[in-house]
Amino acid sequence: MKRISHWMNGKVVAGTSGNSAPVYDPATGEQTASVDLASVAEVDQAVAIAEAAAVEWRTTSLSRRAEILFRIRELVDANRKEIAAFLTAEHGKVPSDALGEVARGLENIEFACGIPHLLKGGYSEQAATGVDVYSIRQPLGVVAGITPFNFPAMVPMWMFANALACGNTFILKPSEKDPSASLFLAELLASAGLPAGCFNVVQGDKVAVDRLLEHPSVKAVSFVGSTPIAKYVYETGTAHGKRIQALGGAKNHMLVLADADLNMAADAAVSAAYGSSGERCMAVSVILAADSIADDLVSKIAERIPNVVVGPGADPGSEMGPLITAEHRSKVEGYIAGASEEGAHVVVDGRRNDGSPGYFVDPTLIDSVKPGMRCYDDEIFGPVLSVVRVKGYEDGVAMINANQFANGTAIFTRDGGAARQFQFDIEVGMVGINVPIPVPVSYYSFGGWKASLFGDTHMYGPEGINFYTRGKVVTSRWPDPATSTVNLGFPETR
Ligand code: NAD
Repeated sequence: MKRISHWMNGKVVAGTSGNSAPVYDPATGEQTASVDLASVAEVDQAVAIAEAAAVEWRTTSLSRRAEILFRIRELVDANRKEIAAFLTAEHGKVPSDALGEVARGLENIEFACGIPHLLKGGYSEQAATGVDVYSIRQPLGVVAGITPFNFPAMVPMWMFANALACGNTFILKPSEKDPSASLFLAELLASAGLPAGCFNVVQGDKVAVDRLLEHPSVKAVSFVGSTPIAKYVYETGTAHGKRIQALGGAKNHMLVLADADLNMAADAAVSAAYGSSGERCMAVSVILAADSIADDLVSKIAERIPNVVVGPGADPGSEMGPLITAEHRSKVEGYIAGASEEGAHVVVDGRRNDGSPGYFVDPTLIDSVKPGMRCYDDEIFGPVLSVVRVKGYEDGVAMINANQFANGTAIFTRDGGAARQFQFDIEVGMVGINVPIPVPVSYYSFGGWKASLFGDTHMYGPEGINFYTRGKVVTSRWPDPATSTVNLGFPETR
C-alpha cells in the first residue's frame, strides 16, 4: 500500500506518530494509500525547520525570489497533466475539471512572479523640511496554510505563491483525503531552486491543525474549509495572537430574472451546479427563478441533465465524477430524501441505490424549495440544485441577503440597470453578472462575507500580499549636526 508522508527541509520525511488515515479512489471506493498523520512533535519539527529557513529567505533579493517563482511557474506549467492525475486519483475530478484547477492555481504563481513590483512602498520627500517618509512591507516569518479536499492543488497555490514571494516560509497542512498533490508540488518547488525548509508539508488532522494554531512561531494561518472549522480556526488562532484568514462554506444563489435568456441561464445553471459534482465553494446550489419563467427554466435544466456524462475521472469522456467519500455520499443522499419529506419536489433524483462501485450521485434537481427546508438552509456540497421561486428582483435580493452564507452569487438578466443595482444591493463577496462562477482572477482577491469568511483579509491577489506582510513606515532626516537642538514639543510638519 502506498504511504504518503511529510515534506520537510527539501525531502520526504516518514511519519513517526503511528497514526495514519486511509486515502481512497472515489471512483472505485478502493483504498489506494494511507497518509501519515503528524503528531505535535512532528509539527514542531516542521516549524523549527521553517523558522531556521526564514532567516535567509527574507534576505534573498526580490529579483532572486522572482526568478525562483518564474521557474516554479515553468515547472507547474510543464506538469499540468501530472498534477491533474493526482487530483483525479484521490479527489475523483474529471480531466477538464482537474486541468482547470491547475490552470487557475498557476495564475496565482504568475501573479506572485511580479513580487518586486507588488512590494513597492510609498515615498514622500519633504514631508517636513528635510524629512522624508517612506513605507515598506516586510514578511511575517513562518506562515501556515490549511486546505480543504476539494482543491488539493489550487488552494495551496492561492496561499504559498504569495507567502513565499513576500519572503515568508510556509507550512502546508493539506486535506488528509487527497494529500498526494501537495508532495508533488513540494518536489516541483525544490526542483525550481527554492531553498530547503522554505516550503514544508505536514500531513495531518485536527492534532496538526491545533498545534499550528497554538505554536508561537507561526505568525499567520490561511484556512479554507467548512464554516464550523473556519470559525474554530479563526477563534483559536486569533486567541493565540495570530493573523488569520479563514474561508468557510457557501450557498451560492443564481437569480434569474424574467428577461434573461433562459437557454443561456439553463446551460450556466447545469455547468455551475454539477461541475466537480457540486463540490466547489463557488458552485451554484440555488436558482432563484422569477415566477413567470420558473416552469420554463426548470424544464430546460431538467432536459439538459441526462446529457451530463457521469463517470470516473480516468475516463476522458466523463464530465462529472464521484463525491469524495462514502460518508459524504450518504450525507448528500440524505438531503435528497429529506427534501421530498419536507414538501419540495424532486424533479430529477440522482441517487443510484444500485450498489455500483464508487461514490457517485448523479445530477439532482429539486423544485419548490423554500428557506427553512434543510436542503436550502445547509451547504450540501454535492450535485444537488435547488430551485426557489421568487416574485422578482426585490424578493430574490432579500432572500440572498438573508442567507448566512455570502461567498458567491450571480444574476442572469438582459437588463443592465438591474444588474448594476444587484451589484450595489447584494451582500455577498463575489458577484457574477451573467457569469455563474465568478471566481476572481489572481490579480483581484477571493473571499466571501458573513459565515463564508472569518477575518478581514480576502485571499490571494493584492489582499494576499497584505496578509503575508507587515507594514512599516520610516521617517528619516540627515540634518547638519551643528543645527541640532533639544525640543520637547510634539514634532510638527510645518
Ligand atoms: P473541512 O472543514 O472538513 O476541512 C478543511 C481542513 O480542516 C482540512 O485540512 C481538515 O483536515 C481540517 N479539519 C477538519 N476538521 C477539523 C477539526 N475538527 N479541527 C481542525 N481542523 C480540522 O472542509 P473540507 O470538507 O475539506 O472542504 C469542503 C468545505 O470547504 C466546504 O464547506 C466548502 O464550501 C469549503 N470551501 C470553501 C472555499 C472558500 O473559498 N470559501 C473553497 C473551497 C472549499
